[in-house]
Amino acid sequence: MTAPTAGAPADIFPTDGPAPGWLRDEPIGATITWTGCAGIVLAYEGTRICFDPFVSNPGFVDTFFRSARSDGERVRRSFADMSAIFVGHTHWDHAMDVAEVATISPSAVVYGSETTTEIVRRQGIGESQLHTVVDGEQLTVGPFRVEAVASRHGIVPVASKIDVIELRGTGMPRSPFRWPRGQVFSYRVTFADTSFYLHTSAGFEPEPFARQQPVDVVIACLAARQGTPDYFARIGAQLRPKVFIPCHHDNFLESQDRPPKPVPRLEWPQFLDDVAGLGRDYGTRLVQLPRGEAISF
Ligand SMILES: [Zn+2]
Repeated sequence: MTAPTAGAPADIFPTDGPAPGWLRDEPIGATITWTGCAGIVLAYEGTRICFDPFVSNPGFVDTFFRSARSDGERVRRSFADMSAIFVGHTHWDHAMDVAEVATISPSAVVYGSETTTEIVRRQGIGESQLHTVVDGEQLTVGPFRVEAVASRHGIVPVASKIDVIELRGTGMPRSPFRWPRGQVFSYRVTFADTSFYLHTSAGFEPEPFARQQPVDVVIACLAARQGTPDYFARIGAQLRPKVFIPCHHDNFLESQDRPPKPVPRLEWPQFLDDVAGLGRDYGTRLVQLPRGEAISF
């Protein structure tokens, strides 16, 4: 990777992908796409699965004062032909586009907490496409094996105090900001002798996390990590990743029509120091994915 600088946008959000061989010397013929926020698409042997698909990015007014509306065209460009949709938690910046993704891929199953499957059900998605997960559950989708791991949310200053936790009553929340959090999950994915750990919110549930074995790649949320003591040290000690891919570091109140901007309190130079520490302790390499581009490995 390029040497750390003062944190100019081009360093935080490169437009070029990593050089070939960033994960394995011999490519396995898979791709990974960071679609913005915590969104990831993995494709291998004709099967496509996604995690926390969210590309609609409503702006400030629409987030706080209008009901959620997906950008159908952008969702189709980013999440066509999915076989499975995994959701880390139900906040809008992770789950608002899930029903739209399920609609355009009618054979895709939505995997997530009770809160996630219920909010998707309320948008008209049928039972055959809904699967509520529990901690430790092992799922198979084509060549992918996925384990659901109970986790916790990062602590968002101020917002934590007014956060909606459960979905109540009937119908949909009044605005994206009122989408409930529900139970939080991380996901471990293995295929073709390669393992990924998607940690899409910056907290930990200690016992489920302690169950985890080392992984090849960790994809970890940078937003709201400051309230979680030793966040990177705990990821490193438990997962010993070869590669660290940051996510949830772009400002999700900004439309994807424009280049990504940092999320508030990104503290990029501090992040580079922390990930350099993982490099010293475990040989971890930082890999940054350009938004919206499928990267081979
Ligand atoms: Zn959240």
